[in-house]
Amino acid sequence: MKPVAYLLAAMLGVLGLIFVAGAPGQPMRIAVGVVIWVAAGALVWLAMHRVPHSTTTVVQKIDLSGNVHLQDLTCRTCGGSLSDKSVSVRAGAVFVNCEYCGAAYQLEEDPKW
Ligand SMILES: [Zn+2]
Repeated sequence: MKPVAYLLAAMLGVLGLIFVAGAPGQPMRIAVGVVIWVAAGALVWLAMHRVPHSTTTVVQKIDLSGNVHLQDLTCRTCGGSLSDKSVSVRAGAVFVNCEYCGAAYQLEEDPKW
């Protein structure tokens, strides 16, 4: 959204320049050019000050030590294979929430399976 606003402001700036430069001694056209410049300035101000919509996507990267694939993870309680839906990262620790038996526990630093 922001680059579009800046591009539009730049285009308005050029347009205002054309109005002013292309009309020597014509106060009306100069006034129009100034109005366009003000609009361009307002556009830049809006783009800079507008609070962006909260579309923050939290990307959590599960980084397990060693070459451990999520497919190899099995539930400690029921032995069912856990998908990435069952594993979550909270406060830097890996939590397992089994989708089969509902068991929830924290994964240790060096798990043994
Ligand atoms: Zn389970």
